[in-house]
Amino acid sequence: MAKFIIVKCKCGNEQKVFGAPAMSVKCRVCNELLATATGGKAALSGKYVKDAE
Ligand SMILES: [Zn+2]
Repeated sequence: MAKFIIVKCKCGNEQKVFGAPAMSVKCRVCNELLATATGGKAALSGKYVKDAE
């Protein structure tokens, strides 16, 4: 169930994010919050682009 997804930040950076992260994930370029840990599926702050391999 847990998998990686590509999330696009408002700065334009596309970043691979674990679909069920244990910790919140921030953009590696601008430090904007991209996904919040919920204990399950990530709550995305960035824009979902596609599933990643
Ligand atoms: Zn960014």
